[in-house]
Amino acid sequence: MNLSSKLPNVGTTIFTVMSKMANDYNAINLSQGFPNFPIDPVLSEILAKKATENTHQYAPMAGLPSLLTGIEKLISVQYGRSINAQAEALVTAGATQAIFTTIQALVHPGDEVIILDPSYDCYESPIILAGGKPIRIPLNQDFLPDWELIRSKVNSKTRLIITNNPHNPSGIIWKENDMTQLELLIQENPYLLVLSDEVYEFITFELQHLSVHSNEILRNRSIVVSSFGKTFHITGWKVGYMIAPEELMVEIKKVHQFLVFCVNSVAQSALSEYLESVDVSKLGDFYKVKRDFFRENMASSKFKLLPCEGTYFQVASYEQISDESDVDFCKRLVKEFGVAAIPLSVFIADSSDRKLLRFCFAKEDETLLNATQKLCKI
Ligand code: PMP
Ligand code: GLN
Repeated sequence: MNLSSKLPNVGTTIFTVMSKMANDYNAINLSQGFPNFPIDPVLSEILAKKATENTHQYAPMAGLPSLLTGIEKLISVQYGRSINAQAEALVTAGATQAIFTTIQALVHPGDEVIILDPSYDCYESPIILAGGKPIRIPLNQDFLPDWELIRSKVNSKTRLIITNNPHNPSGIIWKENDMTQLELLIQENPYLLVLSDEVYEFITFELQHLSVHSNEILRNRSIVVSSFGKTFHITGWKVGYMIAPEELMVEIKKVHQFLVFCVNSVAQSALSEYLESVDVSKLGDFYKVKRDFFRENMASSKFKLLPCEGTYFQVASYEQISDESDVDFCKRLVKEFGVAAIPLSVFIADSSDRKLLRFCFAKEDETLLNATQKLCKI
């Protein structure tokens, strides 16, 4: 067939590739980020109950009113931001759809969109499909933004800067200076908006997460994206939400209604009831125990662990083990040592390779123990 691809440079995502390899070689899967422990039984009981109720038809386009109210309360309690959820919130099929929808709604052909590398993989393709131009800018060695470099790339065509804090894959979180610099940048550039991917907002450890929600200047020019998948260990439910000023949200909803129209009604109903009792502020402590357990058990390995301030990912250097490329080393790790990880170069535009891998520690202790025993033998 004479088919000209709209995304000629896109293949299968690294998450699919590595998870498949983990299955094929019967390896422990610390690659794709998803928890392997049971969800809160309170949530599964609510879900089971909701499935017996009248919850099975289309939800309102922007979200179930009770869930929108729950989101409004969550943002008020966690960030002291008061929103009008009916006008400023949208329930989406995960953060991925929120990001895609926002880009289709706001990026015009020829607009530029800044992506900070290493970057999560769902940012670039929607920009290309919208006729926009992705401008990929490397983060500093410590995975924080190089503000001087960013400033030098912003011009009158720069429509969006996509930020991700806490950061996947590095596990680094933004500091006060980064928020101040972003604030200055949007004040100096009236066309520029922020797409703030904060899906790991409740998974931080020693340092506090600095959210766009808590900054008045930023939040008036930002779309903030969240994911119940990360917050409630339900990545397969694919339910998330985003908050944006009403005039942006009007445009975003125009796209949303033709992309999905509305999101899974039973899941929305269950989440709205669960939000009434759950305490998200404990999530960081929960994952800190797992991070520490993983790090302690890796202490005698030849891997060098980088700092991990948030998310459920630990980055490690294998420089002392091999000089193979990170992709080759990852493949050999699965085949010969029985552990799957993610190579960091796949998140970088020029695939530059610092010999770093990402391990997901959102796993049962037994899984982490078995994996670290294997990794310590290398
Ligand atoms: N952004 C980042 C940084 C992520 O790690 C993920 C992971 N899944 C997503 C967005 C997508 O989230 P969701 O599964 O809710 O679509
Ligand atoms: N966000 C997950 C990760 O970073 C992957 C989700 C997916 O497979 N699309 O591992």
